[in-house]
Amino acid sequence: MQDEKVALFIIFGGSGDLARRKLYPSLFRLYQKGYLQKHFAVIGTARRPWSNDYYQQIVFDSLASLNPDAEQAKEFASHFYYQSHDVTNTEHYVVLRELAQKLDTQYQLAGNRIFYMAMSPRFFGTIAGHLKSEDVLDDRGFNRLVIEKPFGHDFASAQVLNEDIRASFAENQIYRIDHYLGKEMVQNISAIRFGNNIIESLWNNRYIDNIQITLSEALGVEERGGYYENSGALRDMVQNHISQIATLLAMEPPVSFDAADIRSEKIKVLRSLHIGTPEEARQDFVRGQYGAATVAGEALDNYRDAAQVAPESKTETFVAGKMTFENYRWAGVPFYIRTGKRLAKKATRVDVVFKQLPMNIFQSVNKQDNLAENVLTIYIEPTEGFTLQLNAKRVGQGFATRPAALTFRHSSEAATNTPEAYERLLLDILNGDSTNFTHWDELAQTWRFADVIEKVWASEPAPDFPNYLSGSMGPACADELLARDGRHWVYDPTQTDCE
Ligand code: NAD
Repeated sequence: MQDEKVALFIIFGGSGDLARRKLYPSLFRLYQKGYLQKHFAVIGTARRPWSNDYYQQIVFDSLASLNPDAEQAKEFASHFYYQSHDVTNTEHYVVLRELAQKLDTQYQLAGNRIFYMAMSPRFFGTIAGHLKSEDVLDDRGFNRLVIEKPFGHDFASAQVLNEDIRASFAENQIYRIDHYLGKEMVQNISAIRFGNNIIESLWNNRYIDNIQITLSEALGVEERGGYYENSGALRDMVQNHISQIATLLAMEPPVSFDAADIRSEKIKVLRSLHIGTPEEARQDFVRGQYGAATVAGEALDNYRDAAQVAPESKTETFVAGKMTFENYRWAGVPFYIRTGKRLAKKATRVDVVFKQLPMNIFQSVNKQDNLAENVLTIYIEPTEGFTLQLNAKRVGQGFATRPAALTFRHSSEAATNTPEAYERLLLDILNGDSTNFTHWDELAQTWRFADVIEKVWASEPAPDFPNYLSGSMGPACADELLARDGRHWVYDPTQTDCE
């Protein structure tokens, strides 16, 4: 049996999609594993007037895909209580406080409270304010506030949201979820970098030419057109997930593998992230939107044909660009980034391209102008591992070299945004481990960075969308971006199976 965790969860948005599909199954898994036993309770709040019985049935039903033992699932669901709650009504927080106190006594919860915001971000500030003013926080134990993305729409709105929340909760009580930033990813990148002298000692601008981060999705916008129209790839992926990957790659080795030490290195390196001028944003970032194509016999539509998407939509479903960190380690090394929907293959990977040797001594004997570049590829999803591409002698007479790859791969345990990923995040929150959550200082800086690009794009006519075919690797301008610097994308699944 695991160490039992003791806490009261208060979920705002207890009737919503996130709660049913992710949170309840994840809490149940923690229960099955013994992290949650007798001393936990959950209050679900939402607007509808539900009874406890009805709510417990909803929770029970949400576990169906896990094929649970019915007795165990029933026992688990009996820890759930419902409160019909209008987040703007002060009286309702008084009722909530009383219910929380009652459950705290009944289940002996030691005043430990986790407030989970599983609803629209526009209510976060209101809820946080009322939790404090109506004394729903309990200073006998811990109070932790969990916030889903998106955290703001730009720097200004993120700052307002943050100030609203910080009026009631201290920074170390706030857990801003970036579900992409699973522990696996942090551990995967850290293991390669900090577990290998031959890698870490080459990890700088003397040996590395450029770093490429690709986060490609094969799916289109599907049912999320309404949300995506107001977001776009830059806000949805670059400001948060890609920036987090870049940060893990660029940060200095932390003093220890402790959450606080990792966090402080991430914040430090983000201070050196170059916030471009509008002119640089114009040059260094390109956008795209997918168009219809037939891929593997399947007719795929335009982004503009998706539900709740404007027929003339200017929203980008693809971004490529160049990030730079202005510090000793990385001066002069571009971090090329690329993300998009409806690309050739679903993959998250990093290609670290090493500098060429100062000369090719084999040129006179083998007529090869250039040796292939050494590349370290770090696979993040759907498989984990790495490949190190070196040059070796081709077997046979004469002298020629060929690339040889040293590969270690295995399928990644838990994809992002799955019950497993949420299970881990919930356990981290119970443990007070903030490694996988974003600090305000990180968010502030990545919003400042994204805002410049967003402003330039908003002020100029969009390119002639759609400008890339579904099933491709994005628009031609993404290739030109690197070609201009004399480089190319290492990963191109449309050319060869170069995974
Ligand atoms: P949803 O629309 O399914 O649920 C919203 C919940 O909020 C419902 O329970 C509703 O009753 C409640 N609510 C709305 N207005 C209210 C009010 N005035 N007073 C009290 N309750 C009110 O939304 P969702 O998909 O569950 O998403 C919730 C949050 O999680 C959003 O911030 C979303 O961006 C984020 N998120 C969701 C997912 C997902 O897979 N669903 C993934 C990542 C992030």
